[in-house]
Amino acid sequence: MSRTFPTSVDVVIVGSGPCGAAYARVLSERAPQATLLTLEVGPQLADPPGGHVKNILDEQARSAAQRASEGPAPLSADTPTDTMDGYADEAPRMARPGTWLLPAGYRQPGEDGLPNAAMSSNVGGMGAHWTGACPRPGEGERIAFLADLDELLTEGERLLAVDDHAFDDAPFADEVRKRLADHLDADRAEDRRVGPMPLAVTRHADGRLTWSGSDVVYGDVTRANPRHTLLPEALVTRVLLTDGRASGVRVRDLQTGQEHDVAARYVVVAADSLRTPQLLWASGVRPHALGRYLNDQPQTVYAVRLRDVGHADQEDVDPRGRSSIVAQSGVSWVPYTDQHPFHGQVMQLDASPVPLAADDVPTPGTIVGLGWFCAKDLQDSDRLEFDETAPDPYGMPGIQVHYRLTEADHASIAAATAAVKEVAAALGDPLGGEPFTFGPGASLHIQGTVRMGETPDGTSVCGPTSEVWDVPGLHVAGNGVIPTPIACNPTLTSVALAVAGARSIAGSLSERN
Ligand code: FAD
Repeated sequence: MSRTFPTSVDVVIVGSGPCGAAYARVLSERAPQATLLTLEVGPQLADPPGGHVKNILDEQARSAAQRASEGPAPLSADTPTDTMDGYADEAPRMARPGTWLLPAGYRQPGEDGLPNAAMSSNVGGMGAHWTGACPRPGEGERIAFLADLDELLTEGERLLAVDDHAFDDAPFADEVRKRLADHLDADRAEDRRVGPMPLAVTRHADGRLTWSGSDVVYGDVTRANPRHTLLPEALVTRVLLTDGRASGVRVRDLQTGQEHDVAARYVVVAADSLRTPQLLWASGVRPHALGRYLNDQPQTVYAVRLRDVGHADQEDVDPRGRSSIVAQSGVSWVPYTDQHPFHGQVMQLDASPVPLAADDVPTPGTIVGLGWFCAKDLQDSDRLEFDETAPDPYGMPGIQVHYRLTEADHASIAAATAAVKEVAAALGDPLGGEPFTFGPGASLHIQGTVRMGETPDGTSVCGPTSEVWDVPGLHVAGNGVIPTPIACNPTLTSVALAVAGARSIAGSLSERN
């Protein structure tokens, strides 16, 4: 039986990842009279919608949910379900469970390209597969023209249920942070010192851990909102415009192949950093900055074994006393500073990423993975182009990536490599040879393609409320909106920017009602 698509709503949201969900949540809270429709190209994996796949305990069911998220290019059925598997994998293109790689156009001849650029197609988007690290941007990462950035970040932390202390009792986490701090903290401002990584994780009274996906961002208020509808397997092919203003969307029901036009007063495109500009382009919205300032965070990883630590107490090893520690146990954060312009993510792994001797069983918590992320040297020429004659697997204009690492990027990667080796030496004994730098796109933190600006000077796509310049009623959301070359994990920042956009729509709706 075919589904009913509404003919008219107040707000259409394209995409159900954390940023689309943030719009639905804030609008449900601030504009409860508004009719809201979320359209998502991928299938629904869980009930409530948008749950994180790591919360699915059954391995087979988790694997099935990951395959269902991989759009037109699912991985083989026996792919390991742990996204940390292959942490230091040197494969030229690395697809992580729950994601699918750009099938074509990811590199032009003579360029670096983004061979690891990936997407997720499912209710919850990549937010059903992510690691949940939610650091705040600092110093040069911050968006200077947003006076209320800190308040927006606080709201983002509320929506994502960010917790700084979920893994406080992980074995040796304090020792890792002490060694990092002794080595790095001397000249740092108080809010930029080494600390636990803020994580979008909830630790329940019984010790159980659950990961925040869009389900947490939606929250009960959105689920209880009778005026919000979420339709999965619904591909938005076009934003409709009337007299230059967004007036709705054209959507293809992937269950039946039928197309529907839905009228709307506001359209929010939260369809990831590759597909948000794709949809704008397909709709004839093509400002100069669209798809430009494309950036991904070059990422260098290394592993180390803690030196001079005893054996953790059994209690420390497993706070729940049931199973082994989870992969993300003990995640520490080395914040970006202008002097140390890298974001450091330090994870105590439950297995070594490099082979150890067969009889060498490491004490849990003593193998530490270091990931140093760099900020990209932003270029107008790093861009996405779109080609209607070579459509993508959904029939949308094909994506062509133009992307180069500049000399400054190579210098920054070399400096990150040196920094990570120095930090590793301060922690313990390095494992394996040299640090390894992933190919571009592997951070999965693709940014800048629909960037925000203070004024419409041609270097941005949208203004401070994420409304597209010169297209009233059309908002964009996601990591693509971030205008600064941030090195830290971007989702908290993107959700914070979505909060500002949703508040501005809620304000306009209540003025007009
Ligand atoms: P997405 O979550 O990508 O959602 C976009 C949605 O739009 C998708 O569901 C897609 O199917 C849908 N869509 C696209 N086009 C259309 C269309 N035309 N019509 C309808 N629907 C459409 N980030 C961090 O900050 N910290 C981390 O620790 C972290 N770890 C990660 C680990 C992994 C393994 C992965 C995969 C990602 C990680 N990320 C991390 C990245 C994080 O998941 C993303 O930044 C975040 O999900 C972006 O949210 P979003 O809502 O903008 O986009």
